[in-house]
Amino acid sequence: MAATVLTSLNFIDGEWCPAQSGATIQTYNPADTRQLVAVYPLSDAADARTAIAVAVRAFPAWGGITPVARGRILSRTAQILESRKGVLTELLTREEGKTLGESGGEVQRAIDIFRFFGGLSYTVGGQTFPHDLPQNLLYTIRQPLGVVGLITPWNFPIAIPAWKLAPALLAGNAVVLKPATQAPGMSLELARALAEAGLPKGALNVVVGEGRSVGHELATHPDVVALSFTGSHAIGQVIYRQLAPRMARAQMEMGGKNPTIVLADADLELAVNLVIKAGFGLTGQACTATSRVIVEKPVLEPFLERFVARARELKVGNGLSPGVDMGPAVSQAQLEIDLDYIRIAQAEGARLVCGGQRLTAGEFAHGHFLEPTVLRDVTPMMRIAREEVFGPVVAVMGVDDFEAALAVANGVDVGLSASIVTRDLKRAMVYADRIEAGVVKINQISTGLALQAPFGGVKKSSTDSFKEQGAAALDFYTRIKTVYLDYSV
Ligand code: NAD
Ligand code: MN
Repeated sequence: MAATVLTSLNFIDGEWCPAQSGATIQTYNPADTRQLVAVYPLSDAADARTAIAVAVRAFPAWGGITPVARGRILSRTAQILESRKGVLTELLTREEGKTLGESGGEVQRAIDIFRFFGGLSYTVGGQTFPHDLPQNLLYTIRQPLGVVGLITPWNFPIAIPAWKLAPALLAGNAVVLKPATQAPGMSLELARALAEAGLPKGALNVVVGEGRSVGHELATHPDVVALSFTGSHAIGQVIYRQLAPRMARAQMEMGGKNPTIVLADADLELAVNLVIKAGFGLTGQACTATSRVIVEKPVLEPFLERFVARARELKVGNGLSPGVDMGPAVSQAQLEIDLDYIRIAQAEGARLVCGGQRLTAGEFAHGHFLEPTVLRDVTPMMRIAREEVFGPVVAVMGVDDFEAALAVANGVDVGLSASIVTRDLKRAMVYADRIEAGVVKINQISTGLALQAPFGGVKKSSTDSFKEQGAAALDFYTRIKTVYLDYSV
């Protein structure tokens, strides 16, 4: 595989520019850290301030054209991205580590998101209401907010920036985007495609740098009137507090501890397939990954037997190689977190029945590889049952019945996605009613979302004020104004 090193720059005011300090940062392939993938500017607060000032100047013109005109640019962006799908897919895998199949799906998702919001542009408008009096018109209009900050994580480096950017821009906001330093490449490629599609200068600015400098500036700058963040709870909570004093609009989407419940009547083959995919797909590095499997005791042993057998068969390796099922952890730091949680779980009484080891021999020598890991005899108060790991580590818990399963599933302080495997329609529907989660999956993997439907968590997974994705995504990025017009006078 030709390892061309990419040199990328910030995208500010329609220009590609280095950090003002001249500092740079590198990314390395997590499957083989001898391979330098790209060099980026290591920007700081000064670069963020420049980008914010540029966005302030660009906003009136961009916000002043119609949604349909902006939508055309989004539709063209989809076409440009589609023409580069192969290149983007490979870069995504080299920088973040997921398999080519997973990267291809994610790039396609970004393309489809731009197509969706391009088409949706024809529907961005308000409502009319009957007035109390004749010859009176009462209606609402939707207006953009101004300068919006977007802060994104590394795990879906193109899909998440896309699902924030497309509605933010369609609404007419000027945007400053700060991608995660572990995988900034895709955000800059989105900027490149948008610029080629005709996006005016300054409507989107991408600044690569660390959270504590560039991210902090976006969170605290008075001209940033709204901020959409996806990432960890610890950081989301810090930013939420920073937005509050100036009443900036906040959307914090954070982690989960997503359950898959397997009832005794479930098709066990299906249950195993779903948990293998939702637990180990994307190396477990999905906010909606299944990390707790809650199994009714009559089927606990047969489920575990088949699940462990399948987990052992998974082919771990470099995401660029054909036939690989699971790539590496994104970084040494993430790998160490994964290994720590495996040790903590065992110390608290969980039993390791699959994996648990870092892979270091042969082709694994220079990557952050971990075996697919299964822990059994996990109980609800253990840390492995309560805290997000963000790796290929699945905790299996046995319960007496459906009510106990529901209590365990709801017994954590987060609620993002939740799955159940059963043939019992009534229990499935009761689960959908009573589970504390933003997304419920019945006989489906806990990961994977339809781009046209709303998405977001509850409890500590989200500020739960606005949804992302689908037409509902526009609510965060627009303000509704109510107009009263009396033509009887
Ligand atoms: P993270 O919280 O470490 O970082 C997220 C972003 O915040 C990065 O761009 C980072 O640079 C920035 N940041 C860090 N400190 C900051 C600060 N003080 N001020 C402003 N910005 C700061 O998260 P991560 O490790 O990149 O991503 C993994 C997490 O994201 C997991 O918890 C996962 O569950 C969550 N996630 C949630 C969703 C969702 O939609 N709910 C989707 C994907 C990932
Ligand atoms: Mn992190």
